[in-house]
Amino acid sequence: MVGKERVEDLAIAGGPPAFRESLHVGRPNIGDRARLLERINDLLDRRWLTNDGRYVRELEAELARRIGVRHCLAVCNATLGLQLAARALDLSGEVIVPAFTFVATAHALQWLGIAPVFADIDPRTHNIDPAHVEALVNERTTGILGVHLWGRACDVRALAAIARRHRLRLLFDAAHAFGCSHDGRSLGSFGDAEVLSFHATKYVNSFEGGAVTTDDDTLAARVRAMRNFGLAGGDRAASLGTNAKMSEVAAAMGLTSIEGAEEVAAINRAHHAAYRRGLAGVPGLAVVTYPDGERHNHQFVVLEIDAGPAGLHRDDLDEVLRAEGILARRYFHPGCHRAEPYRSRPSASELPHTDAVAARVLSLPTGPAVDVESIALICRIIRLAVDAADRVRAHVANARRGRGAEGVC
Ligand SMILES: *Cc1c(COP(=O)(O)O)cnc(C)c1O
Repeated sequence: MVGKERVEDLAIAGGPPAFRESLHVGRPNIGDRARLLERINDLLDRRWLTNDGRYVRELEAELARRIGVRHCLAVCNATLGLQLAARALDLSGEVIVPAFTFVATAHALQWLGIAPVFADIDPRTHNIDPAHVEALVNERTTGILGVHLWGRACDVRALAAIARRHRLRLLFDAAHAFGCSHDGRSLGSFGDAEVLSFHATKYVNSFEGGAVTTDDDTLAARVRAMRNFGLAGGDRAASLGTNAKMSEVAAAMGLTSIEGAEEVAAINRAHHAAYRRGLAGVPGLAVVTYPDGERHNHQFVVLEIDAGPAGLHRDDLDEVLRAEGILARRYFHPGCHRAEPYRSRPSASELPHTDAVAARVLSLPTGPAVDVESIALICRIIRLAVDAADRVRAHVANARRGRGAEGVC
């Protein structure tokens, strides 16, 4: 492993990169390959590839049991899951969402002709601010779509109270939240419905996939019909539907992934602790923490960089790491309100906390694809960069100028 003792050792200053093979955020967790292939062989032998097959049913039962809900409807991805849930809840007009989330949260609504109205976040939790939500409610509002960002529960109690007061539906984007709890209760079991993602980059994956979870029998029946063309037994369409079914091969991966989930969470937890240890006391840096006494998947290691005390802006540090082969991600910069088609809307809103947090977060590589030795080295590089912030800033500026010159040639 490359030594990083002095500023000159940093790749941004001309030293050799710490990692010849780049480290990524969100490397897929593959799980038990033999078990997966066994299931795939079985579904091929049975020639049952999709349409409410054995593995989809098994996955739904397993998820419903683990989350503690009456109904779990597997779907081909969370974006369509959000759309089915929004339609099944008769959402229309405006729905209030946080801007600090993956753009799919907002797009899922806009795709249905529902306007996402962006609320600011609480900068301490990174989650939607209930006070701002209530201020945004008007006669066109039909629902609230909260996001459990980083798998940390948003303020479900306050949001439920607002929904009750204004007769709004309450939906949650739980794409980060499988394996997490709040007040001892699994995320995925709150509000009128929740939507999980099993995209390849998530803690549990089914290649692509998701699920709608709810205790509401009528809602579940509507989602079930909608995901399968609105068919009501046999070939007769009884209502408008689309195709959002999960395939059997995806469910086979999902089941295998769930079997390995505890192990992945334990690795993530150890990695999270290693980052916290490795970065303890570095001025201006803080790793986002997760609540004690709750279950958590520790899927994200989110570093917050306060440019004042650190002497480096988040983007400078990102550049330093990139040169070393550490491909961090600026999730979720710059916030949905600054993405199209929303930023051009005449009603575009000012969200100071979203802007501030989006400018200082950096997601670092974790998961089984990374080891603790690599994490120790990443922390050493970050510490070194902050210690010599003035010189590092000059090197970053040089590197940017160099790239600019290349552009001109
Ligand atoms: C990944 C993600 C989604 C989209 O999930 P897909 O299954 O890829 O459609 C939605 N919301 C958030 C917060 C996400 O991180």
